[in-house]
Amino acid sequence: MLKSSYSSGDAISKILADARSVGRPTLSFEFYPFRDETSAAQLWQTLDLLLAAKADFVSLTYGAGGSSQEKSFAVLERMAPQVATIGHLTAVGSSKVGTASTIRRFEDLGVASILALRGDSPKDDPTALERGELTTALELLDVAAKESKLETGVAAFPEKHPESASLAHDANLLRLKELAGAKYAITQLFFSVEAYLNLVETVRQQGVTIEIIPGLMPIANAKQVLRMAEMSGAIVPQKLLEALHGATESEARTIGMQFSIDLASKLLAAKAPGLHLFTLNRHESAMKIAKEIGIVG
Ligand SMILES: Cc1cc2nc3c(=O)[nH]c(=O)nc-3n(C[C@H](O)[C@H](O)[C@H](O)COP(=O)(O)OP(=O)(O)OC[C@H]3O[C@@H](n4cnc5c(N)ncnc54)[C@H](O)[C@@H]3O)c2cc1C
Repeated sequence: MLKSSYSSGDAISKILADARSVGRPTLSFEFYPFRDETSAAQLWQTLDLLLAAKADFVSLTYGAGGSSQEKSFAVLERMAPQVATIGHLTAVGSSKVGTASTIRRFEDLGVASILALRGDSPKDDPTALERGELTTALELLDVAAKESKLETGVAAFPEKHPESASLAHDANLLRLKELAGAKYAITQLFFSVEAYLNLVETVRQQGVTIEIIPGLMPIANAKQVLRMAEMSGAIVPQKLLEALHGATESEARTIGMQFSIDLASKLLAAKAPGLHLFTLNRHESAMKIAKEIGIVG
């Protein structure tokens, strides 16, 4: 099995700094835990193919509020020894003691870094957030800093967090997260380079110095991605909506992927530190973007 150029223990901030020092963008991929044997096979095949494309690091989502968490550990056990791996971790519904024990489990599995997130209450348990001991990502960062030497990263929102009053409020929160130890941020999905650049400018004005890695969702299945955009509050450009209107599935895929490739190349031209591609556990679209913009051969 081919390994990435970085090994499991490498800090994400070191990988970003090394890449920045030689003027190359990092390439990384997000996965989610499998549900059954078929989706497990797909996940492992996708991981192998993307590692062969020299992924710098990968990340694995965590089911806020309980769902799929054991599956996350099962994936991390096999993923983390192969490549520098970020384990997402959520605060929702968690106690400090329980979180400390999860962090130790991450350490034992060889996870390189924790993406410290609040998470959202699951639909079928809407008060989970209020009932837990930890209610913000900042509180989770504090537990991580006290309990572990693992590097932490956090989320950032180019179009502000849906519950937040303003981007300036989010930017100040990101500054507090950096002060609490966060060493990098990965963004929510978004569809305009201006939104990303505006976020970077706003957080820099507040004194944030950590790298802001754009999270990019390939628009392979337009319907699915538009649904995700709605849930996350990301603004879909009118031009893209018009182009997709009335398109067949296959036309929509071509339009969506061309849009994603253009966005990726504009982000790199604007000196984003790298691209974190949301794979949905499939390699095709992520690889297409990476190839088209020349990050992999
Ligand atoms: C890259 C990325 C990966 C993700 N991965 C996962 C995942 O694996 N699993 C999952 O369940 N979810 C995941 N999410 C979703 C994320 O959990 C939600 O977007 C959640 O609503 C916000 O998380 P946060 O860490 O930004 O929360 P927080 O930083 O806690 O912020 C949440 C809200 O509370 C407000 N707030 C927080 N602290 C304060 C404070 N001290 N004072 C005032 N206001 C405050 C913020 O302004 C914001 O509106 C991910 C999101 C991103 C961008």
